[in-house]
Amino acid sequence: MAFEGLAERLQSTLKKIRGKGKVSEQDVKEMMREVRLALLEADVNFKVVKKFVNDVKERAVGQEVLESLTPGQQVIKVVNEELTKLMGGEQSKIASASKPPTVIMMVGLQGAGKTTTTGKLANHLRKNHNRNPLMVAADIYRPAAIKQLETLGKQLDMPVFSLGDQVSPVEIAKQAIAKAKEEHHDYVLIDTAGRLHVDEKLMNELEDIKAVASPDEILLVVDAMTGQDAVNVAENFNERLDITGAILTKLDGDTRGGAAISVKAVTGTPVKFAGMGEKIDALEPFHPERMASRILGMGDVLTLIEKAQTNVDEKKAKELERKMRTNELTFDDFLEQLSQVRNMGPLDELLNMMPGAGKMKGLKNAQVDEKQLTHIEAIVKSMTKAEREDPDLLNASRRKRIAKGSGTSIQEVNRLIKQFGEMKKMMKQMTGMQKGKGKKKGGL
Ligand code: GDP
Repeated sequence: MAFEGLAERLQSTLKKIRGKGKVSEQDVKEMMREVRLALLEADVNFKVVKKFVNDVKERAVGQEVLESLTPGQQVIKVVNEELTKLMGGEQSKIASASKPPTVIMMVGLQGAGKTTTTGKLANHLRKNHNRNPLMVAADIYRPAAIKQLETLGKQLDMPVFSLGDQVSPVEIAKQAIAKAKEEHHDYVLIDTAGRLHVDEKLMNELEDIKAVASPDEILLVVDAMTGQDAVNVAENFNERLDITGAILTKLDGDTRGGAAISVKAVTGTPVKFAGMGEKIDALEPFHPERMASRILGMGDVLTLIEKAQTNVDEKKAKELERKMRTNELTFDDFLEQLSQVRNMGPLDELLNMMPGAGKMKGLKNAQVDEKQLTHIEAIVKSMTKAEREDPDLLNASRRKRIAKGSGTSIQEVNRLIKQFGEMKKMMKQMTGMQKGKGKKKGGL
């Protein structure tokens, strides 16, 4: 998970000041020294770090903190607000042209994830906003790119416009937009060519496409794993093309997160989405305030709830919620729930969105993969009806029988029963937090 190192360091630094009833200038100075190091280590641009540290310091030794009743918590609030501001403040939404189609040019270096992200964005627009996008294969230099986009189109059952690799990208863009108008597509997503490095020829071509396509958005796809390089690439593209936003990919990976924090501050271009995995639905709108909360260990309950809203059957969820509240959850529900949670994304990622989840050691590395799920299913199915409904019945000899019956090991059975208990606890927490927070904002 991205930001892990940074999150751990910031959280342990902030813990020291959290409960303080009195905060001196010296306390703030010491804290900020550690915050500065943590940010630099996370590969945040050094100029950005310097400004951030100064801004926080100025506010943290000001009246707003010193005169408050809980200065320790107030300092953390300041850090949270400044971190949010650094990443752009408000969420930056994707354009929606008053006269369709809205044209979006996807640009970026080779391997950044441009083609994949084009598919993800098309899927997002359809799934969450009921739009009808046309994807356009304009990367004629990498023949595999056209094929890749066409495959994504088939997988999604969405149209891809392609004229092969013998027609110029400018002509492809022109014809695609005409076709989109004719067929009433409300979005056109143009997947352009990438190179290994920024070069003149590429930039000229992108400028030419821009001239004919008059895009409403030019979204730069950058690989978060490349850290400072991602920020440099963003600066280069921005100088030539005036990009309107960035999409950071591979934030699910082991990136230190510096790019996510620096892109907006260095280039003035907001991050609009984050790629969180290779799967087609692993794209999240980038919310600076939620990201800051995640980094500071305050969780991201809103994203969690939104994910639940799009992936979980509401009627079943309501029944499940009732059972959770009354602690009636059975292993059958667990099985059902697991398959729904699996649709929401990797469990460890979901857990990171829960406040304080980092501290729940047993859950931190919990992961559900396909094979494990099959085992879990076999284990649950080897239980009697009574056992499924009342896990307390599961003594050692019953566990042994279940392991044998399901072709698994006692350890696996034990682990599942333990996870079930933890899940019950976690679900109870979630239902508690959900109240009154489930409202979705409008717009794209
Ligand atoms: P392009 O050359 O920019 O078009 O890059 P591709 O779309 O072909 O992606 C390059 C690789 O990055 C592929 O293996 C993708 O599956 C992978 N990729 C793209 N986005 C993400 C992401 O958000 N997370 C992860 N883990 N992999 C990604």
